[in-house]
Amino acid sequence: MYEHDVIVVGAGGAGLRAAIAADEEGADVALVTKLHPVRSHTGAAEGGINASLRDGDSWDLHAYDTMKGSDYLGDAPAIDTFAKTAPEEVIQLEHWGMPFSREDDGRVSQRPFGGMSFPRTTYAGAETGHHLLHTMYEQAVKRGIEVYDEWYVTNLAVTDHDDPEDRECHGCVAYDIKSGKIEGFRATGGVVLATGGLGQAFDHTTNAVANTGDGCAMAYRAGVPMEDMEMIQFHPTTLPSTGVLISEGVRGEGGILYNDEEERFMFEYGYANNDGELASRDVVSRAELTEVNEGRGIEDEYVDLDMRHLGEERILDRLENILHLAEDFEGVDGLDEPMPVKPGQHYAMGGVECDENGETCIDGLYAAGETACVSLHGANRLGGNALPELLVFGARAGYHAAGRDMKTAEIQTGLSAKSEAGDVEPPVTPGAIDSGSEDVAADGAAVEPTGVIENAVERERERVETLLEEDGINHAEVRADVQETMTQNVNVFRKEEGLKTALRDLREAREAYEDVAVSDPSRTYNTDLIHTIETRNILDVAEAITLGALAREEFRGAHWRAEHQERKDDEWIKHTMLAWNDGTPELYYKPVILEGDEETYEPKERSY
Ligand SMILES: Cc1cc2nc3c(=O)[nH]c(=O)nc-3n(C[C@H](O)[C@H](O)[C@H](O)COP(=O)(O)OP(=O)(O)OC[C@H]3O[C@@H](n4cnc5c(N)ncnc54)[C@H](O)[C@@H]3O)c2cc1C
Repeated sequence: MYEHDVIVVGAGGAGLRAAIAADEEGADVALVTKLHPVRSHTGAAEGGINASLRDGDSWDLHAYDTMKGSDYLGDAPAIDTFAKTAPEEVIQLEHWGMPFSREDDGRVSQRPFGGMSFPRTTYAGAETGHHLLHTMYEQAVKRGIEVYDEWYVTNLAVTDHDDPEDRECHGCVAYDIKSGKIEGFRATGGVVLATGGLGQAFDHTTNAVANTGDGCAMAYRAGVPMEDMEMIQFHPTTLPSTGVLISEGVRGEGGILYNDEEERFMFEYGYANNDGELASRDVVSRAELTEVNEGRGIEDEYVDLDMRHLGEERILDRLENILHLAEDFEGVDGLDEPMPVKPGQHYAMGGVECDENGETCIDGLYAAGETACVSLHGANRLGGNALPELLVFGARAGYHAAGRDMKTAEIQTGLSAKSEAGDVEPPVTPGAIDSGSEDVAADGAAVEPTGVIENAVERERERVETLLEEDGINHAEVRADVQETMTQNVNVFRKEEGLKTALRDLREAREAYEDVAVSDPSRTYNTDLIHTIETRNILDVAEAITLGALAREEFRGAHWRAEHQERKDDEWIKHTMLAWNDGTPELYYKPVILEGDEETYEPKERSY
């Protein structure tokens, strides 16, 4: 068994920032990650990082834009903390050597991004995430932070108290991808989950194949509620054949969207008369699909994004990477022709419920980054707000796990924050089929840390043995079915019948998963085994997304419902929460906090 004060699971932007913070606090910290840190998906971020740095801008303007962008589903304590702290985090990055793009006078450049009232997006060309990841990895190396890379964390080591709020997390279990060894990791201070996104629940996504929602699924099964899982962002500019992202930076620099009739449809059809292409992402994605559905799409599938008028010099200076992506994946030269784009799954606004200190309702368990839901983005994330979130809340989770006294959180977590029971009626029973395989210590009242970890390791060894030794179907069939139904039925436009179809399909997929097995018996780099375990995680998060989508009977932000065409503020300014409760998801609601430090945010109509 390995032992550290703080274990950070995941070494993308959030994990690295958490680890550096825990190290600054004097803790012995380790990163456990299934990928080498610089292969984490943060490296794919292109467009930029928002922070109010200039005269004329201020944290409260940034907070206001974020709350408005969230369609009044973000929590003010998270939004205010975020907007106040983002500038110091960006300056810190600059001091660590991040190669930001600059103006002629040497100041860090900032460009406009969707839904922002001020051009506050700092960037490093169109490779911002790549540079951010490398800058922070250098800091981790410099500090001698231990990295267990190519270790896949399979479950958390959590006590088995009946009430999740009495449970404690003592560590986790991980599988060494290189050797097949399964080991326990004890964290005497805390475990920070920073495992990134869940895009692999869909088949057209900007997310990497590693983004399988592992952290969400592990926390969910251990008893931490999932918050606002229905809030999935579909990015309006992804390449049709692969889902590869074309950064919002293209529109930020002045790129224009056209339909098949060469109309600038964002204005022509009044989707966003003020901001046009730079309206927020949910608005632009719906506009594009409406164009396609009304017969004005190109090849009935996509629209065109044109940046030729920006000129070669500016494109090469600020968007060179985009030229390579369009050329490599679509065979299109962006200097000479428009690029084909359509909406694709991009980001999970919801996730592991935590407070503004990163703490979940389970003692010793924290979450940060895309896997977490501190409720910063609410129903719609503004472009450029995820990277500063990694920094601000990654650092806070790291400090707290390492023992720093933090201001008492205003955001409440766990079932004690429940304001109302939910009343969704799924067409099939959701949740675990084989509840014996749950992640909470199942055998007796083990509360002593090493006992909890040893039990968890033992359960994992048995699970892996079974997968390797028995015959059965390949997980890929199950995964493909899940991705297909999610893209078909839980996409930009959602209908009650489609959501119910998805739940039925997911139930069938769960039943099929009962028969999966891994045909490759090897212990070394057995990627089929890893993917098989990930597919179970994808199933759990896909079902949570769909249950949340069926429950929320209104149209807010990224969540559009055919039968409910308006935002219903009287009834729905509340978070949808799902608690696994030993295998049976329970739906309930908790109130959104609109009272901020300076003002109480008043829900207004969101027009761009
Ligand atoms: C193409 C693209 C472009 C984007 N551009 C921008 C942008 O310009 N600006 C912006 O603000 N946001 C952007 N975003 C969003 C933002 O980049 C992500 O939300 C963010 O980088 C996620 O960071 P993370 O640290 O939470 O996760 P990741 O960077 O994905 O890291 C996850 C880590 O967890 C590890 N991990 C996962 N599961 C396990 C497991 N079971 N065991 C062990 N380790 C595990 C992985 O190895 C990895 O190290 C973009 C997103 C995409 C997809």
